[in-house]
Amino acid sequence: MLATRLQGLHPYVPGEQPTDRDYIKLNANENPYPPHESVGEAVSRAATSQLPKLGLYPDPDVNELRAAIADMLTKTGGCFGNTHIDGTNCTPDARNTLPFPITADMIFCGNGSDEVLSFVFYTFFDGDRPLVQPRFSYSFYPVYCGFYKIPMAPVALKDDWTLDTDALIAEAQKSDSCIIFANPNAPTGLALSRAQVADLLRRAPKGRIVVVDEAYCDFGEESCLPLLGEFDNLVIVRTFSKSLSFAGMRLGYAVARPELVNALFTVKNSFNHFPVDFIAKTAAVASCKAAWYYARNAQRIIQDRDDFSSFLRGHGWSVIDSKTNFVFARKEGLEGEYIYQSVKKAGLLIRHFNTPGIEDFVRISIGTPEQMSILKKAMEVL
Ligand SMILES: *Cc1c(COP(=O)(O)O)cnc(C)c1O
Repeated sequence: MLATRLQGLHPYVPGEQPTDRDYIKLNANENPYPPHESVGEAVSRAATSQLPKLGLYPDPDVNELRAAIADMLTKTGGCFGNTHIDGTNCTPDARNTLPFPITADMIFCGNGSDEVLSFVFYTFFDGDRPLVQPRFSYSFYPVYCGFYKIPMAPVALKDDWTLDTDALIAEAQKSDSCIIFANPNAPTGLALSRAQVADLLRRAPKGRIVVVDEAYCDFGEESCLPLLGEFDNLVIVRTFSKSLSFAGMRLGYAVARPELVNALFTVKNSFNHFPVDFIAKTAAVASCKAAWYYARNAQRIIQDRDDFSSFLRGHGWSVIDSKTNFVFARKEGLEGEYIYQSVKKAGLLIRHFNTPGIEDFVRISIGTPEQMSILKKAMEVL
């Protein structure tokens, strides 16, 4: 009774969401800090004085939100970790000052960046050639390749877990292919510099799209947004889920030149006109206006991440240098599954992958200082 295409589907498995006990959740890279109170107030207003609007279709183009995101990116430089905060104002540091303002017509919004990625795959990647991607990157990319019947060309990481840009380029040139990767990458946490991404873009097949997934960029040092002025085949995908404490409300977006954004609109309007509902739009606009609050939280998380990495190293762990809101770590002689189970017994959830090659690692999201001190106690005895 099922369509045959279901045979190609291998659904993504998100970090577990157990209900049997109140665990400290450090397994899905969610932000441990709540949304800013102005977001709650905006949502309350939407449900009271603006209640009639909930009975009407929302703006299919979410123009107000696209303008708010463009403004936030221009004011912060697209990297909260390196944003100067002055009261409720943000300004980019010199490294992230954009050579041009980001405009609303460069923004495409969807119901989480997973959905935006789905539209990106459908819009730009043909099934007649393999999509080049790192062997270890966001595990939703292979899922969408299965969904859209796009063959894959996975490229091994270097021995130090960094992306092998030469090998990615060589593979893309072989089949005149598009490339996708996360930067900073997941689950390793390592980032390529903007100069390295620019070099990759210069050598990538001409006329083929390169997608950079910046889900964790706000916890790093540099965004690739300035490269949009130089490379017309660059598509940057970003999410509100991590740095904007928005995982439960769902909002992701792509930034690209307007012609590419229009192509994404064509696909969206052939599938679902309204992926961003009125409440999500209202909450997201309020979030953009409170960028200073989220930048402060990101900077706190970065500090706690670096403290936690030093702590683990001091206790004999190998920790990959992270530019994200999580760390990827292992300890000689311990299996990842064992670490995960031991920490779970202490009441905390972290992530372990059974994937060959990374099965000894655990991925730990950075929580509040209180949560991290409970975790340290559970880990220092291992
Ligand atoms: C979390 C994540 C996403 C998806 O985020 P949404 O919650 O769907 O917006 C996309 N890419 C990477 C690399 C991620 O880690």
